[in-house]
Amino acid sequence: MRKKIVAGNWKMNLDYNEGLALFSEVVNMVKDEATGDQQAVVCSPFIHLHSLAALAKGYSNVAIGAQNAHQAESGAYTGEISAKQVKSTGAEYVILGHSERRQYFGESNELLAKKTDTALKNGLKPIFCIGETLQEREANTHFDIIKSQLVEGVFHLDADAFGTIVLAYEPVWAIGTGVTATSDQAQEIHAFIRAEIAAKYSQAVADATTILYGGSCNPKNAAELFACADIDGGLIGGASLKSRDFTDIVKAFN
Ligand code: PEP
Repeated sequence: MRKKIVAGNWKMNLDYNEGLALFSEVVNMVKDEATGDQQAVVCSPFIHLHSLAALAKGYSNVAIGAQNAHQAESGAYTGEISAKQVKSTGAEYVILGHSERRQYFGESNELLAKKTDTALKNGLKPIFCIGETLQEREANTHFDIIKSQLVEGVFHLDADAFGTIVLAYEPVWAIGTGVTATSDQAQEIHAFIRAEIAAKYSQAVADATTILYGGSCNPKNAAELFACADIDGGLIGGASLKSRDFTDIVKAFN
């Protein structure tokens, strides 16, 4: 049985106190909702990580993640943060390859492959994002784009290392737009991703890989998306900033 995850991505929102207040509400609300092999993950700005990890201690179904980490182990990279530093806060996950990082910070598949290696080496589990733009979908190149993101970003890993990563399919046209992929569109891509993993590694590795959907997922559409055979949860932006909405999305598993 693969792990089911609902991960919130707070992006660059919430000051320190606002983040703590929201997370306290989230923990109280989701601790009894995420059961068994389900996990609720909050990916906060760096300033919150250590405090949130302390609040999450004792709840095996609640975990913390960062939204980025540098590819180098350490050094003269003013303003950056290393995977080791993220790990030392108590964070378990790190989002890598979010489309906003690809678009605004020029992160390439090649760079993301290095970030993935460094994150794994430091004991973090990458939530590795892939997905096509609207133009790529309209040009019918979305399968090629997604395949190249997989091949160049994570398929250099051996099966054991690959087994620790989580994938997130996030069509760029659905992120923060209020336009969600239909469950058929999302399932089609998730099945494609799983088939590519099976071809590269094995069916067993493919069957064990958690693949999240992200892009305007909300309490209204989550249950239909999560009911799809190859969708194992969600990466949630806007709706993760409201404790009730985030909890309702976690509940959508049940
Ligand atoms: C995201 O940024 O990963 C995301 C899915 O955002 P939203 O849910 O707001 O579309």
